[in-house]
Amino acid sequence: MANNRELSLFDSHCHLDFEYFDDDRGEVFARMQEEGVDRCVSVAVDFEHLPRLQALAEQHDNVWFSVGIHPNHEVDEEPTVEQLCTLSDHPGCVAIGETGMDFFRHRVDPALQERRFRTHIQAAQQLGKPVIVHNRDADSESIRILTEEEIGKCGGIMHCFSADWDTAKAALDMGMYISFSGNVTFKNNQQLRDVAAKVPEDRILIETDAPFLAPVPHRGRRNEPAYVKHVAQCIADVKGLSIREMAETSTNNALKVFGI
Ligand SMILES: [Zn+2]
Ligand SMILES: [Zn+2]
Repeated sequence: MANNRELSLFDSHCHLDFEYFDDDRGEVFARMQEEGVDRCVSVAVDFEHLPRLQALAEQHDNVWFSVGIHPNHEVDEEPTVEQLCTLSDHPGCVAIGETGMDFFRHRVDPALQERRFRTHIQAAQQLGKPVIVHNRDADSESIRILTEEEIGKCGGIMHCFSADWDTAKAALDMGMYISFSGNVTFKNNQQLRDVAAKVPEDRILIETDAPFLAPVPHRGRRNEPAYVKHVAQCIADVKGLSIREMAETSTNNALKVFGI
């Protein structure tokens, strides 16, 4: 692996505001710097964490954040377009989400997930910001809603991509970006690496989804942004690129989609 200080990596999706990092967040930032992970987006899953996300972006000029409610997060009141627009009025906010469809756990009724997803896309279109899409075991539903709501108008990211090529192709055809996470490095996931090999370079993002889904060789432990280099290396290998080329391309893609 190349000398990481020569790299400039962008973790397009992590949850640095989560309590998992409360004891050693400073060390997590130090390791990011050592490994050449110069920037990240800390992604919202609810409104309760927004003050923490705003504070992170204010304290660190290499951290941005998003505003949104995760499809499986239970709330008393559903967000409105107006509310999402008001809450994202902050210089550090670069995206709406994470939102989408999750049929893996079914904590929130699918009809409610769909309504919430549509509300987020409509807010993103008003704001001119991309949507960070969480899709788990709901490929055709997610693509149907993205198509009907015309995601191309604001752009979006299929985060932690774990679906098949047809789903990737449908998202790419709508102008979306595909973000790969630690699961692309898992030994039994050749299918996902085959999809990654086909995604055009100028549409690939890399992420950790930290603290979850740590890539090999950290699998099973708490994940952190410094580990995004393992995702970069894996995608570089399947595409026959150097990690430096992969870092440069995916960082440029992230700067472009987030308008940084
Ligand atoms: Zn997610
Ligand atoms: Zn996430």
